[in-house]
Amino acid sequence: MTWKQTLKRLFLVDLLRGLRRTFAYQAPSKCYTEQYPQERPIVAERYRGAPRLNNNPETSETLCIACNLCALACPENLIVVGWQRDEQSRRKVLTTFTYDLSRCMFCGLCEDACPTDALELTQDFEMAYYTREGAIWDRHMLEEGPTPVRYTR
Ligand code: SF4
Ligand code: SF4
Repeated sequence: MTWKQTLKRLFLVDLLRGLRRTFAYQAPSKCYTEQYPQERPIVAERYRGAPRLNNNPETSETLCIACNLCALACPENLIVVGWQRDEQSRRKVLTTFTYDLSRCMFCGLCEDACPTDALELTQDFEMAYYTREGAIWDRHMLEEGPTPVRYTR
């Protein structure tokens, strides 16, 4: 061991360097506290949260064509699509749509399977509830979308 290494060990140079690095990151100016729920954090663009059934913004008619692909893609089998055949156009018409939020793992497979972008997992993340009551969302709830609570002091 050289005399330089001996001195380094004697004066705990490496330890002091490490401590300096640690405390450099603890400066109050570098601390950031999110003021949730007063200020809602911006989540990642591809975040998958509460589901929504989209309507055509011009006609307000549902974009869902009742193809049932989302229900087939769901590994949890939690989507149930109800439909009936329109006698004139011979097209399927959506009647009911249920989505069991309590069993959803937000994998996004249903959203990916949807050919019309009717089903969308939004960026709303406030879905922690004390009860499973109301966890099955019907078509109305899915079309209205969640209404995030705005907290004020
Ligand atoms: S996100 Fe996944 S688990 Fe949830 S409904 Fe869609 S496919 Fe099913
Ligand atoms: S939400 Fe999309 S995938 Fe599901 S039934 Fe409607 S159009 Fe088909």
